[in-house]
Amino acid sequence: MTTGTVPAVITLKKGMNKLKVAIIGAGAMGSLYGYYLANAGYSVELVDIWQQHVDEINRNGLTIIDGNKHHNIFIPAIADPRLLKEMKDLIIVFVKSYQTAEAIESCLHLVNEQTRILTLQNGVGNVEILQQYIPSEQIMGGTTSHGANVKQPGQIIHAGKGKTVMGRIDGQNRTRERWLAEKFAKAGIEVEINDNIQTLLWDKLMVNVGINALTALLNIENGKLLEMEETQMLMKYLVAEAGNVSSQAKIQLTCQNPLEHVKSIAEATGDNKSSMLQDLIKGRRTEVDYINGAIIKKGKEVGVSTPYNKVMVALIKAKEKQVKREPF
Ligand code: NAD
Repeated sequence: MTTGTVPAVITLKKGMNKLKVAIIGAGAMGSLYGYYLANAGYSVELVDIWQQHVDEINRNGLTIIDGNKHHNIFIPAIADPRLLKEMKDLIIVFVKSYQTAEAIESCLHLVNEQTRILTLQNGVGNVEILQQYIPSEQIMGGTTSHGANVKQPGQIIHAGKGKTVMGRIDGQNRTRERWLAEKFAKAGIEVEINDNIQTLLWDKLMVNVGINALTALLNIENGKLLEMEETQMLMKYLVAEAGNVSSQAKIQLTCQNPLEHVKSIAEATGDNKSSMLQDLIKGRRTEVDYINGAIIKKGKEVGVSTPYNKVMVALIKAKEKQVKREPF
């Protein structure tokens, strides 16, 4: 069939039979989403540079531990994406933010003009990295309220369930984006389409700015931030800086009062360890450059000074240098 003479909508429908997905970065979250999508019968391939994890998945299947339930599923996993040949409908990028550029570069041969690239990673900056490789109309961003961590190679703990909110970064959600969301819903992923991804990402960024670095530096659970006047004060200044940057940059936030929102999240997740604290505990690099660092970067662009966020980045980086690295 020559696509040139066929109306676009028919070409689209033709490719809409069986969803073909590659997940780049099949650690905790990539494996979890891979499990949901493969379990629904879609064609899923997991890509991860962690050879031991890949070998374990191919040998014994991927295990998702959900409370006292163990779900085991065989999903093809690969460490070298160059060996994959088939174009994908959807590529989900689930590496840590500082690995995004390398990850997407390694998978560009799986992208045609129908492919959507989805990032549900934390922080701000991943979309901008993807835009260096992929046209904006093919990029989807969003947030996930699922939680997961790696227990050992091949085994993932599903720590918490929640909504996935996603949409095209240019706000132009059409048939293809809705089709993907439908596929997610059919796979048991609670999903919502959103036309304002920047607001979504910055709403979440405000929370991470107020909670992550402080809990990581002090080695405390989220709720403890509300028990000390010193941490409350620091939270207030960090969030105020982020708020000033967002308003100067004309980035809309959903919340009228971001500080109260951050406090309510710290309270609701009082017993949780933030992802930045967990990274430090595991001896891993954090995503601070995409959280407090994102405020500094945007602040520079719009002429807002961000001294409190600068201190957080410097302290976290110094802390990263002291911790011992572990394999996962
Ligand atoms: P993770 O470290 O468990 O998984 C990342 C995986 O990417 C690792 O297995 C690593 O080997 C792999 N990787 C690194 N470079 C690669 C490359 N070039 N190509 C292919 N694979 C590569 O991390 P995670 O906890 O799953 O988090 C992923 C993203 O999701 C982060 O941005 C995180 O902030 C976000 N997130 C995590 C959670 C959570 O509960 N874990 C929740 C919400 C959002």
